[in-house]
Amino acid sequence: MNLRIKNIDLPVFQKANIKLCIVRADLIHPVASGNKFYKLKPTINYAKANNISRLVSFGGAFSNHIHALALSAKDHGLQSVGIIRGESIYANNPTLSDAHKAGMQLEFVDRATYKRRDEAEYLQQLQQRYPNAMIIPEGGSNQYAVKGCIKLAGEINDLVQADLIVVAAGTGATAAGLACGANNRQSVIAYAVLKDKTLNDRISNFIHNEIKSAKVKVEHADFGGYAKLSRQLLEFIMDWLDKTGILLDPVYTGKMCMRLMQQIESNEFEQGATIAMLHSGGLQGWRGMQQRVVTLNGQETWDKIQAYLCRDIS
Ligand SMILES: *Cc1c(COP(=O)(O)O)cnc(C)c1O
Repeated sequence: MNLRIKNIDLPVFQKANIKLCIVRADLIHPVASGNKFYKLKPTINYAKANNISRLVSFGGAFSNHIHALALSAKDHGLQSVGIIRGESIYANNPTLSDAHKAGMQLEFVDRATYKRRDEAEYLQQLQQRYPNAMIIPEGGSNQYAVKGCIKLAGEINDLVQADLIVVAAGTGATAAGLACGANNRQSVIAYAVLKDKTLNDRISNFIHNEIKSAKVKVEHADFGGYAKLSRQLLEFIMDWLDKTGILLDPVYTGKMCMRLMQQIESNEFEQGATIAMLHSGGLQGWRGMQQRVVTLNGQETWDKIQAYLCRDIS
């Protein structure tokens, strides 16, 4: 499916003299993360071209990456293995049952083992167990992922002449790719949803490995910590849904957008600027938050979210 954009016209943007458009990478799949498909595409192409039959990667029990990896591997006739942090009781959650249904083999490991996911010795052992497999880092964030997001920047620029591209960041590979693929009049802001001081360095490394000199500005947007849903965030997201008809996800894009709106309201951007905000998807993450949503805001709010998740996107 082709990438689409939607212009958002709200009084607050007129007042700040800002144009905002949403890049709808969320429409690539009803609930999976759109940016993960862009990130995985070059890895999958590489695997297929090199007769690699299996993809192995890591993630938490509600991981957008694990979810998208399972679906992509299935689409391309590849086998997949998910090394999951936590216990097998999670196997029945919506994220992992989707992954399992797509044919992914799930392996549950304790926190200590999971921490070793980037260690050479551990990766070697894993490679011995899965000889004809390609091991992909957490979040899908290898150098191929950066290349996939360079392509995404090209697709965005074919649709809109934006001064600023804004994106939610976990590992920073998506932001790095967008920065490498942006033109020299554009800047990229990465909204960090993790309380993690290494994001700047990680983005710089990804960019450096492309032999590029692009820059990304990091803006903090962790709002209480990774995957923490506060009442303020939930109310912001529901208000945004009412005003725009678009549901953001609770872990990444909701936080980015909430911070971005604070910045727009305090006139932090240049007059007349056009901002392209990437909706990277990730709506599947809502399904692990039913209890939390109902507790914070009641059943009616959950019903609205649920209805959106089941909508027809064709
Ligand atoms: C994974 C993810 C991100 C962050 O991507 P990184 O490349 O790890 O920075 C942003 N938004 C959504 C919806 C995601 O699933």
